[in-house]
Amino acid sequence: MAEAGVAHAAYPLAEPGLWVERVGARVFAAGRPALFLDRDGTINVDTGYPDDPEKMVLLEDIVPAIAAANRRGLPVVIVTNQSGIARGYYGWAEFAAVNGRVLDLLRARDAFVDMVLACAYHDVGDGPLAIADHPMRKPNPGMLVEAAKRLGIDLARSIIVGDKPADMEAGRRAGLPLGFLVDGAASDQPGFTVMPLGGRADREALLAAVEAL
Ligand SMILES: [Mg+2]
Repeated sequence: MAEAGVAHAAYPLAEPGLWVERVGARVFAAGRPALFLDRDGTINVDTGYPDDPEKMVLLEDIVPAIAAANRRGLPVVIVTNQSGIARGYYGWAEFAAVNGRVLDLLRARDAFVDMVLACAYHDVGDGPLAIADHPMRKPNPGMLVEAAKRLGIDLARSIIVGDKPADMEAGRRAGLPLGFLVDGAASDQPGFTVMPLGGRADREALLAAVEAL
């Protein structure tokens, strides 16, 4: 807990409240679309400020979409708000352990993530992480834009999957055309479509959307 907000040389922190980790060594040509994924509630069961790697459980339904993106040579990028760090519930060490476990669970299913971005900023924190409406915190698009810069991603053809309206809003603000909202409802805004992700037909729609990228 005492580590919250302290940049630590052991971790890939681009700034005190922003984790940017390149995972694996796959190389991507510039101009490829990406599959962006929220983490908690989208890839793993959201246990509420998860800080224990042993408690992480994979949401199996997302695995085929990640594997499809891998097969197509598209970057797979996790963008996760981690306000539990600003709130002092846990630190980057716990995030590292939990996130490493999530990536391991995916690897065991032959599903691979290429970059992880996590934003610890939140207005309830204190110290350097106490920043309201930080540009990196969803619903702001900062993490998507940062990943796009680093991997040469074409945001205008990319997809985001998440379980909160803030995930969809971050996608919309980043210029994505399409989002899938776990257990959500379909909606349309100018230039941005939200599709539900619940039943089998929804999962097939997501898979088809990834295959079409
Ligand atoms: Mg979530």
